[in-house]
Amino acid sequence: MNLTLTYPFPDDSGFFGEFGGSFIPPQLEEVMKEITEAYLSVREDPAFLSELADLFENYVGRPSPLFEAKTLSDNWGARIFFKREDLNHTGAHKINHCLGEALLAKKLGKKKLIAETGAGQHGVALATAAALVGLDCDIYMGEVDIKKEYPNVVRMKILGARVIPVSHGRKTLKEAVDAAFEAYLKDPITQIYCIGSVVGPHPFPMMVRDFQAIIGREAKEQFTARQGGLPDHVVACVGGGSNALGIFTAFLDDPEVSLHGVEPSGLGLEIEGEHAATLTKGKPGVMHGFKSYMLQDAAGEPGKVYSVASGLDYPSVGPQHSYLRDQGRVQYGVCDDQEAISAFFEISRREGIIPAVESAHAIAFAKKLAQENHGESILINLSGRGDKDIDFIVEKFGPQYGIE
Ligand SMILES: *Cc1c(COP(=O)(O)O)cnc(C)c1O
Repeated sequence: MNLTLTYPFPDDSGFFGEFGGSFIPPQLEEVMKEITEAYLSVREDPAFLSELADLFENYVGRPSPLFEAKTLSDNWGARIFFKREDLNHTGAHKINHCLGEALLAKKLGKKKLIAETGAGQHGVALATAAALVGLDCDIYMGEVDIKKEYPNVVRMKILGARVIPVSHGRKTLKEAVDAAFEAYLKDPITQIYCIGSVVGPHPFPMMVRDFQAIIGREAKEQFTARQGGLPDHVVACVGGGSNALGIFTAFLDDPEVSLHGVEPSGLGLEIEGEHAATLTKGKPGVMHGFKSYMLQDAAGEPGKVYSVASGLDYPSVGPQHSYLRDQGRVQYGVCDDQEAISAFFEISRREGIIPAVESAHAIAFAKKLAQENHGESILINLSGRGDKDIDFIVEKFGPQYGIE
C-alpha cells in the first residue's frame, strides 16, 4: 500500500478560509506547536508512512471493499455503491485516525492517550490503538452514557483502558469533554488528547482528515477500476465530519462529482434542541478551540442537540466543512430519525448489512437523491456497522418493524 497523508489546506495557522484556527489557553500553545511540527514532519517520513500503511493493511483490513448494492439499485432507480468502513477492525472508520494519533503520540514520547467518549465508539477505537501501540489510555465518559453504553465500557476495560466516570451536569458528552480537557491541562507533557473527529484546535482537523483520507483514495481507485469513470454523487453522514472528509477529500478537485454531507434533523429542524443540523441552522462562532458553524443557546454556550444516532449529536462541525459549505463545493442536507431508522431496516433486509444508525442517515439521504437522479451512480460511505445499536433500536422501534 502506497500511503500519502499530504493534502492541501489549511494554511499555516490552521485556517480554512475564515474557519478553524487555534483558540486555546496560553499554557497549551507550546505543546500544540510541538504536536503540529511533529505531525508535519512524520507525514512526510517514509518510515512512519510505511508503519501506518502496514497497520491499515494487516490490522484494520484495508482496503475496505466497495460493494454495489444491486437490490437497492433496482428499487431506487440509481446505482448504489457502499464503501464498507463497517468491515474495518472495531467496526467503523474511527480506527483509521486513532492508529495515526497513537503512532504519533509514541513518536512524541507520550505515555498516555486521553479522550472523551459519548457512545463509546471513539473510546473503543482509541483503547484499541493504545493497546496495540503500548500506551496507557484514559477515557472520560459521562455516568449517564456509561449506563446506556455498557458493552463499550466493558470493551474499553478489557482492552486495558481506564474509564473515568464524569458525574457533574447532565453527565453526558459535553461534561466528558470538559473533564478530559481539564485533565489534559494538568499534564500536557506526558499525555496527549486524541480528538475523535476533524474538530478541535489546529492541527487536529487537518491531522484527523489526513488519516481518514485513505477512504476516498481507495474508493476512487476501486470505483474507477470497475466503472471506468467517477461516481456522480458521494454521500456521507456528518457528526464532527471525519468520515465525510475521509471520503470527500479525494473528490474535491473533481467538479463533476457532487458531494453531499448529511446532518441529523432528529425530531425536526423547527424544534430547537431536538436536532444537530449545524450547517443548516447554526451560525459561525468559536467553541472547543476552533471557529466553525455551531448551534448555540441564548447565552452563547454550545446548544443542546439531539439525534437518534449518538455519533451525530455534536453542536458544531469540523471547520473544513464550514468552509466547503460557504464555497458551495459540498451540499449539506438533513435526514430525520424516522427516515434513518427506516433506511436501517431497509438495507438490513434488502442487502443483509446492518449499518450503524449514523451511516443509516447517509443511506436515507441517498434514497431521496436517487429519486431525483434516476440512472446516476451514488457512492455512500458506510461509516460503521450496527451491532452497537441493535438493542436500543429493537427496544424503541422494533414493534414498528414487526419485531416484538
Ligand atoms: C462517530 C461516528 C460517526 C460520526 O463521526 P464523524 O466524525 O462525523 O465521521 C459516524 N459514523 C459512525 C459509525 C461513527 O462511529
